[in-house]
Order: sequence, then C-alpha cells, then structure tokens
Amino acid sequence: MGGVRNLILVLGDQLTPTLSSLAAGEPARDLVLMAELHDEATYVRHHQKKIAFLFSAMRHFAEELRDAGWTVEYVKLDAPESRGSFTAQVEQAVSAHRPERIVVTEAGEWRVAQMLEEWREQFSTPVDILPDNRFLCSPHEFAQWADGRKQLRMEYFYREMRRKTGLLMYGDVPAGGKWNFDAENRKPAEASLFMPRPAAHAPDAITNDVLALVAARFGNHFGDLKPFWFAVTRNDAEAAFAAFVKDALPSFGDYQDAMLRGEPFLYHAVIALYLNCGLLDPLRVCQQVEAAYRAGAVPLNAAEGFIRQIIGWREYVRGIYWLKMPGYEHSNFFGHTRPLPDFYWSAQTDMACVKAAVTQTKEQAYAHHIQRLMITGNFALLAGIDPHELHEWYLCVYADAYEWVELPNTVGMSQFADGGLLASKPYAASGAYINRMSDYCGGCKYDVKRRAGPEACPFNALYWNFISRHREKIGGNPRMAQMVRTYDKFAADEQARIAQSAAAFLATL
Ligand SMILES: Cc1cc2nc3c(=O)[nH]c(=O)nc-3n(C[C@H](O)[C@H](O)[C@H](O)COP(=O)(O)OP(=O)(O)OC[C@H]3O[C@@H](n4cnc5c(N)ncnc54)[C@H](O)[C@@H]3O)c2cc1C
Ligand code: SF4
Repeated sequence: MGGVRNLILVLGDQLTPTLSSLAAGEPARDLVLMAELHDEATYVRHHQKKIAFLFSAMRHFAEELRDAGWTVEYVKLDAPESRGSFTAQVEQAVSAHRPERIVVTEAGEWRVAQMLEEWREQFSTPVDILPDNRFLCSPHEFAQWADGRKQLRMEYFYREMRRKTGLLMYGDVPAGGKWNFDAENRKPAEASLFMPRPAAHAPDAITNDVLALVAARFGNHFGDLKPFWFAVTRNDAEAAFAAFVKDALPSFGDYQDAMLRGEPFLYHAVIALYLNCGLLDPLRVCQQVEAAYRAGAVPLNAAEGFIRQIIGWREYVRGIYWLKMPGYEHSNFFGHTRPLPDFYWSAQTDMACVKAAVTQTKEQAYAHHIQRLMITGNFALLAGIDPHELHEWYLCVYADAYEWVELPNTVGMSQFADGGLLASKPYAASGAYINRMSDYCGGCKYDVKRRAGPEACPFNALYWNFISRHREKIGGNPRMAQMVRTYDKFAADEQARIAQSAAAFLATL
C-alpha cells in the first residue's frame, strides 16, 4: 500500500473508536496498525485469561474499525510478519508504507510512554503523541491540583471531579446534601436467595482461535484459561454493564466491603477489564448510573459509591501514578523484603480466606476490591512481603491489571509503601475484621478468636507483630496510635507469645 498519510498505532488498551489518534485521522488516507506482541504478553507472565481477553478484544476491535471504513494492518502473534515488540513492528510498518507521520495516543504505562518518546529520535518520520481523551483529568491537571497541597486526599479530588462532570449535582450542591455515603456501605455479607452473576458471553470463532493460541503459547502461565466468559466486543461489554445496573447496582453500596464463600463477584460490576482496555467509557457508565438513580431504580448510596470509584479513585490513582513515576514502583516505606509465598500462586494454604481469594483469582482472573485489599494485600503487609514482588503478582493475575491503576493500588493503598501519600493509614487488619465482613472463618482450620498459638488465626499474631515492629513509623498516625497503645497494654508474656507465634508462622512460609 502506498501514499499512507498517518500510520496510526492503536495499543491493546486503546480499543475505543473515539480515541484521540483515530479522531485525528481519516479512514480513506490513514492506516491503522495493531499488533499482538510477544514482549507485551510476557514482560510479566500475565494470567492466561487476561491475554486471551485482550487478544480477542483487539481482534474484534480491528473488525469494528474495518466496518467503519478503516484500513487495518493487524499482526497476529504467530504471523510471519510479527516482530515481537512495538518498536520493531512500527519500524517494519514505516519501511513498508512510508507514512508522512506516526500518530499514537499516549501510553497508559510509563515504560511504554518512554518508548514512544524515544521514537521521536529513532525514526526520521515525525511522531505525534496525543493526549488520552478517555480520562476526565489529565496528568497535567492532576499535577496542578496536587501542587502545594500538604496531603493528596482522594475525597477532595473527587469533589472536584463531581463539580467538573456535574454528576449527582444540583448546581453546587451534591445530591442528598452530602458528598459521600460510604458510612452506609459497610454491611457484612448475607447469603441471599438472589445473588446476581456478571453476564457471561459464549466464545465465538475469533475467541476460540485466540483460546487455542493462548493454550499453545502461554499454557504455562498462571490461571485457568477456561471457562472463558468475558465480553470481547463493545456491544457485549455494554450489555454486561446494563445487566449490572439492573440486577446488582441497587445493592452495590450496601455490600461493597462484604465477602462470601463461593461468591466471587457479589454485587460488584466486573467492568474494570472493559473500562481499562477501552470497551466501556468511564463517563458514560457514570451517566447511566446517575440516570438509574434519578429514575428511582437505584438508591443514592449505591449510585454515589459507584460513581466515586470511577471518577474518584480511578482518576486519582492514575494522577498519582503519573505524578510519581518513575521511582514509585520501588517505594518501600516499611523496608519489607520477604519473598512472596508460593501459595499466592498455588492457593495451597490452610487460611480459608487466602485460599478463597487466590483460588478464584486463578479461576476467574478476578477478585473484588476487598479481597485484594483486605485478604491478599493485608496478609502481605502484615507478613512483610516485598512490595515490588507483590506488585508484579497483582499485575500478572487480574484481567483488569495495568500498571497505572494496579501500582498505586498495591504500593500506595494496600502496602502503604509510599509512606501515606495515597492512603491516610495502613490497611492492616486482624482476623476480627475478616470475620465481621465475611463467612470465611467458619470454614477455616484456624481459630479467629485466638490471638496466638498454633491454632490461632495467623492474621492476629501477624497484626500485633506488625504494630509492634513498626510502632516508630505508624505511632504518629492518629488512626494507628490507638492500636499501638492497645498493644502496649498487653502483658509482657502476651507480647512474647505474639512475637513467637508470628515468628513460627513466618518460618513456615
Ligand atoms: C492491591 C490492589 C490492586 C488493584 N489492582 C487493580 C488493577 O490492576 N486494575 C484495576 O482496574 N483496579 C485495581 N484495583 C482496584 C479495584 O480493586 C478494582 O478496580 C476492582 O476490584 C475491579 O472490579 P469491578 O470492576 O467489579 O469493580 P467494582 O467494585 O464494581 O467498582 C467499579 C469500578 O470502579 C473502579 N474502581 C474501584 N476501586 C478502584 C480503585 N481503588 N482504583 C481504581 N479504580 C477503582 C474500577 O474501574 C471498577 O471497575 C486494585 C485494588 C487493590 C487493593
Ligand atoms: S480464621 Fe483467620 S485465616 Fe482463617 S479465614 Fe478467618 S481470618 Fe482467614
């Protein structure tokens, strides 16, 4: 093909027809390049379902673009012309098509963003890197918001985003007279007769081809490839979201922090994988939720809680990522260095809560927020696991994991490894919290009521051991000081039992 004006590179998490690079182009004059790349599939060993989801969604998106009149050069992983890396693939396309310009929407990840910048030097063809128009707050705008603030608290950022979008606002006043209804959202789990399930989609021919490819090429990666039920097209992702709004959203707020045996999804949306690759639009999903609230179909605590996760947390962690990269990935406030235990991969542990979270992660490439934060994350924090190793685990195992969103959640929120930039206190909890919010403890070998000893829930001794080990670092935090004081009131022999119990358990890891 000759006479190409723009070579538009569309990355695997840019599956959005209104993406800035596509909006700047013209189907009749430009060529779209998409590629399944070995380097990207293996730079961490992603869950098999995650690779299959992305490759299938990419292939379907290429079809969507062709139907809209674009010429798409789509390089499959096993095609002879596959070059394995972005740079080599673009180099080949440039020499084959001699475009006037290379156009790409900015990358979501620092590593890839650096690579795109290097292309400006490397290629004689000009490279246009356009802002990602799928976020509400650009990295520059976030940096302006952060500038001069002593503390970067999500809540204040979120209020700005509410004002900016007008979501759940009556003029300057938030719906219901309050910005945040989280206090109503802490109900423990109740096994009800009706438990919604995310919409499941049977694999079509394209997905079946991809499943065979992933089994052959990445069959030794973590996770179960089948059953595969994710949506891989925009229409199916939108249908899955509509089903969530109708069936699960009304209870989303109430049970947001709950965990139940055999219920991996509860009232969660299971849409982060669709949002993060561009199949769903964040603002649009929030507008749909607002419409459901205004129509009386959804209570305010659910609608507000959901919208806060998207325009608040999701945008906020992205802002932190770009503000603090590079370097943020090596944060280690507590100096934790213990290797990640094998049971994060095998699920072979007697701790029923950890076993449940890891097993469903393996099966579904999904765990909901409280499982990530208060089970696997909390355990790692209490046991002193190296935050960087843990970050790589989270990046591998979830279908929605991309570094810009995973890293701040892991290093900042869950491990407090940034020393409190993102979270106002460490999310450290003993077995009592897990027992209150779940039904895991009833089926566990350990006794959640005991503080120390071989039968005691390991979270308990590890929790008090964490408080004692890091008292210098956390004692100044008003929300942790109370726990330090409680620990200090334990008798000396109780403190010794806790230390022994924690050490004995850690020695088994
Ligand atoms: C250690 C750890 C690692 C995480 N890694 C990721 C990740 O790699 N990718 C990812 O998208 N989310 C991550 N999260 C945030 C959150 O757990 C997931 O977004 C959520 O579980 C996805 O499931 P869902 O779509 O059912 O979300 P729901 O609970 O239904 O929430 C709705 C949406 O809100 C957004 N959201 C909610 N909480 C957060 C948050 N803390 N940060 C950013 N967005 C949020 C997501 O887009 C999510 O789809 C992580 C959280 C922790 C504690
Ligand atoms: S007793 Fe402890 S380890 Fe067992 S499920 Fe409860 S919190 Fe988890």
